[in-house]
Amino acid sequence: MIDKNQFRGHEQLAYLNDKDTGLKAFIAVHDTSLGPAAGGCRMWPYENEMDALNDVLRLARGMSYKNAMAGLPLGGGKAVIIGDAKTDKSEAIFKALGRFVDSFGGAYITAEDVGMTTEDMMTIATETDYVAGLPQGDHASGDPSPFTAKGIYNGIKAAVKYKLGRDTLDGLTVAIQGVGHVGQYLCEYLHADGVKLLVSDIVAENLVMAVEKFDAAVVPAEEILSAKADVLSPCALGAILNDETIPNIRASIVAGGANNQLANDSHGVRLMDRGILFAPDYVINAGGIINVSGETTGNYDIDWVNRKVDNIYNTLIHIFERADKEQRPTNVVADEMAEEILAAARLKKKSAA
Ligand code: NAD
Repeated sequence: MIDKNQFRGHEQLAYLNDKDTGLKAFIAVHDTSLGPAAGGCRMWPYENEMDALNDVLRLARGMSYKNAMAGLPLGGGKAVIIGDAKTDKSEAIFKALGRFVDSFGGAYITAEDVGMTTEDMMTIATETDYVAGLPQGDHASGDPSPFTAKGIYNGIKAAVKYKLGRDTLDGLTVAIQGVGHVGQYLCEYLHADGVKLLVSDIVAENLVMAVEKFDAAVVPAEEILSAKADVLSPCALGAILNDETIPNIRASIVAGGANNQLANDSHGVRLMDRGILFAPDYVINAGGIINVSGETTGNYDIDWVNRKVDNIYNTLIHIFERADKEQRPTNVVADEMAEEILAAARLKKKSAA
């Protein structure tokens, strides 16, 4: 029943059907060789349990890869709540989720994800210590978006250096899809470097902000992916790199913060065949989790966080070089590099035991 493509190397999987509160949730721990499994809790109106199960397995493995490639002392895990975030939230279900997280004894650390708010996380934290990304408290690291944006900025610089042979961004054009939390901080970095910005959003005030503060030019939402630019930076939605959009992309680099940009893995090949350099999303957008990771150590150190965020540049250069050498898509190479890091950590743990 479980999709074998999703169930690969997971350590733990648990389902809670809490009759008292109505909470139905899965927690999957993919790998703890590098440290406790960290990954957000998603609330989504899944059609059935199997959809939720396959999603939690996929997302937990994704977190292992992301944390491994960011060089963090964290493994990968994820929680999903089956429910509609607009209608099904209650204090009781989040407290039940807190107890569920706590039952893992620290093997899984939760945080905010789609459908969840920082307030929901505060409720969960009344039942367990294993919550990160809180807005307040002893080690709270706050909004991750500025760190995510800084990582993307570093990643754009790496891609520009690799693909265009340029050390600076001055005079280049970057098209940004979505100027929300991440997009607006990214605008700030790029504008300061003399980049010409093209932006799209579906919220008018976000566009006004980008025009007024960063001298951006607005492009209609349906045209941003095919805008004439050096770099396309998707910072809104997933699955936007697909059969319909890839043939029309005019930028030679795709480097943005949105999660799961490729509709499926084969679209990495399509980008490569078109000569478009793709910065794998979970590598370039790791700034936020790096910042949260600083919080999980219980000893938040901003210099450590900044060093890790800056290192996204080097990690991407390694991926680009290896992908070129092996003539394989960057997304496949990144997954393979993550698997290698996990395998080495497993071996080290085994030989230390
Ligand atoms: P956000 O909701 O603040 O911003 C997204 C923006 O995209 C919004 O302004 C929204 O109006 C706009 N948008 C939605 N549909 C659009 C469309 N069709 N065309 C153009 N714009 C559209 O979210 P965010 O926190 O900035 O995150 C952006 C992306 O980055 C998401 O995919 C998120 O999962 C990913 N991400 C965010 C972080 C973080 O630290 N916030 C970390 C890692 C990954």
